[in-house]
Amino acid sequence: MEVGENTAAALEVATTFAELGLAPEILRALDDMGYSIPTPIQKQAIPLVLAGRDLMAQAQTGTGKTAAFALPLLQKMVAHANTSASPARHPVRALVLTPTRELAIQVHESVVDYNKNLPLRSTVVFGGVDMKAQEAELRGGVEILVATPGRLLDHAGSNMVKLSQVQFLVLDEADRMLDMGFMPDLKRILNLLPTKRQTLLFSATFDDSIVGLAKSFLQNPLKVEVARRNTAAELVEQVVHRVREDDKMDALLQVLKAREISQALVFTRTKIAADKLGRRLQKRGVPTGIIHGDKAQVERLAALDGFKQGKVQLLVATDIAARGLDIVDLPCVFNFELPYAAEDYVHRIGRTGRAGASGLAISLVSPEEERLLVAIRKFINRDLVEAPLPAIAPPRAVAVARPVAVAMKPDVEQSDVEQPDAERQPRMARSRREPVCALLLPPVNVAQPVAEVVVEAVVAPAATQPNQIA
Ligand code: AMP
Repeated sequence: MEVGENTAAALEVATTFAELGLAPEILRALDDMGYSIPTPIQKQAIPLVLAGRDLMAQAQTGTGKTAAFALPLLQKMVAHANTSASPARHPVRALVLTPTRELAIQVHESVVDYNKNLPLRSTVVFGGVDMKAQEAELRGGVEILVATPGRLLDHAGSNMVKLSQVQFLVLDEADRMLDMGFMPDLKRILNLLPTKRQTLLFSATFDDSIVGLAKSFLQNPLKVEVARRNTAAELVEQVVHRVREDDKMDALLQVLKAREISQALVFTRTKIAADKLGRRLQKRGVPTGIIHGDKAQVERLAALDGFKQGKVQLLVATDIAARGLDIVDLPCVFNFELPYAAEDYVHRIGRTGRAGASGLAISLVSPEEERLLVAIRKFINRDLVEAPLPAIAPPRAVAVARPVAVAMKPDVEQSDVEQPDAERQPRMARSRREPVCALLLPPVNVAQPVAEVVVEAVVAPAATQPNQIA
């Protein structure tokens, strides 16, 4: 472990945010959010970032990774916090790059929360929306800029933002950025940044391409890990149901009813499949939202919002759209179709069982998907429990059976046995006042470590210029 003595000591002893050396303004904000103890990734990463080290952090959304980079960066910028109206006094010092708009918004929301007692300014820019409002924010000056790569380059190209004073660069969900083909944009952005800076790379998985990226972008980084390499979330119960392709939708509805699942994310492989399934579910009367990369930003946000408020029971999503969403307390994820890339399975099931909560991941696997299932088993290095579809419990007997004239709620399966009205409620267990799925709401308390942590030096100091990309 390549860590200085003081840092190593901090790693061992820090159990509270105060012990991690954060300013009172930040501590008060954390207190307001109900964060009582740092999560494992925060315990490990914060001292290292404060010590000025570059970091490769292997951590999924749900581990508290946003605070793991945002808190120490805010701490390092406290000295620059000022209330001057002059934009020149608020240069971009910290740049956070994310692959998707939703993640950018989410990260920025967290930054705003953590920063609320400091006069540091922040904003978020992403594509798919008008540039004017973003330009106005940028012109006013911001110390912390959260951005998706393409839109950042647009603003940089029109001189709306200067990146020459960036001291801290965060690459969030770096694996996904590479998957989405952002490497050329990243290289262009890197050329706009000072070579002397601190770089933090967060990624759920670490394959050779990420290590290559780290070698190009980072200087002598340390690696912090909160899940063993490619290990599927351990708190998530994972079940496989063998189902014929054509029977999947009925199987989905059966599992929802039998297990009384109030809300779930349902993954398909393609946008077309997401649209098709979403429409079929809607036709069957199941409140369903659809989210994928071809949807306009406003539609994606509306779908998420409906889900957040509990108006929508199912959110059908493709991998790219759902990646990185922080949906607190989401009880269940369905793999309606297994992903082609086994590691996407890990990302998908990481949407449930978050921040110490238990979760359920159900895969509906057709014979055609056998090969994908084998690859997933190999990737996560564990077997997946196969089970028959759960039976729907027969309705409880009623003392006086009486015919019910009202139509069945469309999302309740028809049954031969009549039920009293009270039992005819759809399985949306949460009312609007009690959303089960609280996207961007204050977090659950993390009472225990979510995963083990390994800190190690991983990439030898680059002999050549670390910021030059081969
Ligand atoms: P992230 O992995 O950054 O997406 O965070 C996942 C969720 O955990 C978010 O809702 C955070 O607000 C929450 N969270 C992060 N750190 C803590 C903490 N130390 N205590 C409680 N909740 C936390």
